[in-house]
Amino acid sequence: MSKSTGKAVSAATAAAAAMTTPAQLERLGEHLRKLRLLKSGDRLEALLQHAAAHDLPYAEFLEQVLGEEVAAKTAKNVAMRTAMARFPFVKPLQTFDFDYQPSIDKKQVQQLASCHFIEHGDNVIVLGPPGVGKTHLAVSLGLKAIEAGYRVLFTTAANLIEKLTKAHAEGRLEEKLKLYTAPRLLIVDEIGYLPIDRVGANLFFQLVSRRYERGPMILTSNQSFGAWGDVFGDRVIATAILDRLLHHAVTLNIRGNSYRLKEKLKAGLLRSHDNNPSQPGGEI
Ligand code: ADP
Ligand code: MG
Repeated sequence: MSKSTGKAVSAATAAAAAMTTPAQLERLGEHLRKLRLLKSGDRLEALLQHAAAHDLPYAEFLEQVLGEEVAAKTAKNVAMRTAMARFPFVKPLQTFDFDYQPSIDKKQVQQLASCHFIEHGDNVIVLGPPGVGKTHLAVSLGLKAIEAGYRVLFTTAANLIEKLTKAHAEGRLEEKLKLYTAPRLLIVDEIGYLPIDRVGANLFFQLVSRRYERGPMILTSNQSFGAWGDVFGDRVIATAILDRLLHHAVTLNIRGNSYRLKEKLKAGLLRSHDNNPSQPGGEI
């Protein structure tokens, strides 16, 4: 900034300060606090000075104040809903390396990231062996849903079934089912890592029935659909669950190497086929 421009700006700033009396500033601050416009409260003096120094038209000034307030409130809201979603980690989609996992159709995932599947009530089912990024993708899509304004809840299948079983035994099942039905998007991770008993399978079926055609779910599993009979310990219940889940669903089938072992593979400690089960459910 040249010396003369600097002088002009400080003269304008002084003029702005002169136009706004301390009493006026205090009253404005009070109004903003009462309206819970906290960001504007913090930035009021700076915004007024900037507007005066740059001779901003009234509408532009108002747009700037309200724009900053909306951005601050949106960021706070997203942070709050991200905390409420109880993700195991927070990794946005940009951190997912699609080149490493060519069996995933990047376009399809980007399409899902637009969150139309939530509007349509479609489920997303991510299948694949351990370490290929199922949880990562589920979390990334959950974050997109939060950005789009939806409420999201993440749980593992084991935790969900434990909570439902306990609530059932204590006569509080209805309350718990409501808790898992309320969020617009429910993510159930790791179906198939632990066997589910008959009561658990029944309770899971009840939840899936409640959400059916109302609230979409993202599910991940290391077991192919054919093996879900064993996962749920009952072929009839597994079929009934799959029937509802797959009625409106997108399935992502990941066949590839575990990302956890990427570094080891790179270092030549493992050969690729040591870690390349052809079917979901293959263990390393
Ligand atoms: P899964 O749920 O399939 O067992 P995760 O999603 O937990 O696998 O992935 C294991 C780890 O590797 C996580 O830290 C995850 O962020 C990371 N990861 C997996 N796949 C990718 C990928 N394609 N790009 C970046 N990170 C990845
Ligand atoms: Mg996982």
